[in-house]
Amino acid sequence: PASVALVDRAPRTPAGPAPAEAGPDGAVRRWIPRHVRITRSAAELPHTREIVARCEAAGVQDIEVLRGDQVTGLREGNEREVYARAKSTLAVVVAPPSVRKPQPIPPSADWRIDLARGCPAHCQYCYLAGSLAGPPVTRAYANLDEVLDGIRTHAGRGAVTSGTADRGHEGTTFELSCYTDPLGIEHLTGSLAEAITRVGTGCYGDAPSLRFTTKFDDVAGLTGLPHGGRTRVRFSVNADEVAGRFEGGTARMPQRLHALGRLARAGYPVGLTIAPVMPVPGWQESYGSLLDRVAAELAGVPDVDLTAEIITHRFTPASKDVLLGWYPATRLEMDEDRRRAKRSKFGGVKYVYPADVMADLRGWFSDAVATRLPGARLLYWT
Ligand code: SF4
Repeated sequence: PASVALVDRAPRTPAGPAPAEAGPDGAVRRWIPRHVRITRSAAELPHTREIVARCEAAGVQDIEVLRGDQVTGLREGNEREVYARAKSTLAVVVAPPSVRKPQPIPPSADWRIDLARGCPAHCQYCYLAGSLAGPPVTRAYANLDEVLDGIRTHAGRGAVTSGTADRGHEGTTFELSCYTDPLGIEHLTGSLAEAITRVGTGCYGDAPSLRFTTKFDDVAGLTGLPHGGRTRVRFSVNADEVAGRFEGGTARMPQRLHALGRLARAGYPVGLTIAPVMPVPGWQESYGSLLDRVAAELAGVPDVDLTAEIITHRFTPASKDVLLGWYPATRLEMDEDRRRAKRSKFGGVKYVYPADVMADLRGWFSDAVATRLPGARLLYWT
């Protein structure tokens, strides 16, 4: 490993990630990058010290401080090699002001805050395809204090979601998982625990709350935090056929459901992001079984606060192009002739299921969530 010159400041949390605890059917999913690249400016920041300690504890051998602020060497080789290298690299960089400025993000939340950009998993429908340019490297932000300062500046401002979702009591909501899966890299960064603790202990007043969605299950580091009920953790869940076929590198579904139960028992508001819904053969039975397993996991949890967000599968010309480059042998259906084109007010197009399929799905899910998870609040369907 390169010698890493960093400012001397003790990590905010005890050294290294919390010990992992396995779910009912195996070990938790922890991504270990092959390469960690730290930009020159990031190397000067105290949070980088914690990230490096965590990466070393995780067994990463190749940690290097770059000469400048560009993450170089990512584009060498053919498309497969570029993809593989990017997906096995954690870059530690400084978020510029343009990234740190909170952006409105309806219907998910009032504002978006990015602790990182990019994700180490390999979902063949990945939401990031087409929205983040370049090789799919995961960039963790080292200037955490500046990134989180967006919560202070925007708490109490612009509740763009009020009226569209029943959550006005949550105050101003900040979404942490727009461009990353923050739990998937938490054992390497500690950024999520810091954000949860600050909001939970009132560092930014009573107004804000956090939310994020994840396909990972390593929640040991979150259960004991003073979260104050101000962070809603949603687990991205799906029918076994969809998750098993298309969600590489993520925690398996039983482990995700077990993690959901653990956080609910730790007093967190929790949620389901049922996405992307696909009308696979026998979808009613598959999704019905999923909801029943959620109900079983949460049975007996006192005062569970559960929401559901349901998102059907869609793609754009740009995302299809990127995904076919990343996963040329995918069996994911992205056939424009079997879809309905939906135009945005900005002229973009996305391909959703035809109206009759959408009506079937929507009707079934509305009933099924109400009957199988009667305590859940359905926040939105799209
Ligand atoms: Fe993309 Fe989310 Fe899958 Fe990560 S977990 S690869 S961000 S869809």
